[in-house]
Amino acid sequence: MEKIVMAHGSGGKTGAELMEKIFGKHFKNDVLDKMEDAAVLEINGRIAFSTDSFVVTPVEFKGGDIGKLCICGTVNDLLMMGAVPKYITCGFILEEGLDIEVLDRLVESMAATAKKAGVKIVAGDTKVVEGNGGLYINTSGIGIIPEGRDVSAANMKPGDSIIVSGTLGDHHACILSARMGIENGIRSDCGVLADIPNGLFEAGINVKTMRDVTRGGLGTILNEIAEKSECAIELSETAIPVNDEVRGFCDILGLDPLYMGNEGKMIVVVPGEDEEKALEIIKNTEAGKEACVIGHVTSGKGVVMITRLGGKRVVDVLYGEGLPRIC
Ligand code: MG
Repeated sequence: MEKIVMAHGSGGKTGAELMEKIFGKHFKNDVLDKMEDAAVLEINGRIAFSTDSFVVTPVEFKGGDIGKLCICGTVNDLLMMGAVPKYITCGFILEEGLDIEVLDRLVESMAATAKKAGVKIVAGDTKVVEGNGGLYINTSGIGIIPEGRDVSAANMKPGDSIIVSGTLGDHHACILSARMGIENGIRSDCGVLADIPNGLFEAGINVKTMRDVTRGGLGTILNEIAEKSECAIELSETAIPVNDEVRGFCDILGLDPLYMGNEGKMIVVVPGEDEEKALEIIKNTEAGKEACVIGHVTSGKGVVMITRLGGKRVVDVLYGEGLPRIC
């Protein structure tokens, strides 16, 4: 199988071949095809702008790959601000020895995910470094925030409801299983969340706060938004959805799904009176079938959980990194 060599990172003929055979083949669009020093974009109004780097190993896993992930991650961050994602840039750092066939599959997966998400890849860069055949991708994205939308972690008020779009820990458990060589049916939930905010905004729901439940897990992000809004959150342990197989996996390894990352799950905070309507809309989307209300915003500070037995325990942020390179 043909491999990446240092010359692929040169500005010369070998680099141009890679550009044409892989990136040019999959990433065609009117902006990128101009091949100038920078993409020129027409944008009006407020924009959301985000960047993220992806270093996950293995690069291909059940339910996705680093190509799909690097688009979903950036697109989801834009969506969480109420933006309509429009443009993506991507920077590749390829290690010498990477199979070109693998790269081709990953780039194809990126292109397919971008198409599904309705974003254009408008600029890119490739560097080759010494190494062992790995790759890293950075994506940045721009989305346009339609007039009248105000979504922020600082918007919550006592009485608001917190809805989670589905089961926790799937992506984390999938990557960990692959890394440990454990055979099971756990799949990453890696996916674009667009249908959920689109449905909520279309129905006129007052969406106050949205967050994708990524690194650090639900426990960490709830603490972050509680702090920004200067409120407290009360969670119900029995309401938190976890897939049976993920639950079993966590029990064996002593992991807590509350601190495990997902790549296709989000929370939405809405006023209490919008709870039922919002939940119904979310449940009607592909990504949100298993959505449920997990708790409420109260006055005070921090996050507490009403346990299975009716007691209360404080939910703190994640300290340290349970598992590096899950995204
Ligand atoms: Mg995020």
